[in-house]
Amino acid sequence: MPYYHICPDCGAALDPDEKCNCHDRRPAAYCFMCAMPLYPEDALYDQDPAYEIDGHVLCEDCVDKYVEKNCRKTLRR
Ligand SMILES: [Zn+2]
Ligand SMILES: [Zn+2]
Repeated sequence: MPYYHICPDCGAALDPDEKCNCHDRRPAAYCFMCAMPLYPEDALYDQDPAYEIDGHVLCEDCVDKYVEKNCRKTLRR
């Protein structure tokens, strides 16, 4: 067994007593579809990938789904 645990929120490997620093970060927004917190850039990390469509903020995983569901255009000749 490894002597560390995994942060349930960000997946970082931590020492047994270490508190993950992801909890110091405040999300700038939440994904409109999956409600995942989206963090801004800080000293350690680049910002999370985020997109805005129709005024909704979307994470990287949801942007394709949103576009597929809401932006599909039926082509007519
Ligand atoms: Zn964490
Ligand atoms: Zn999402």
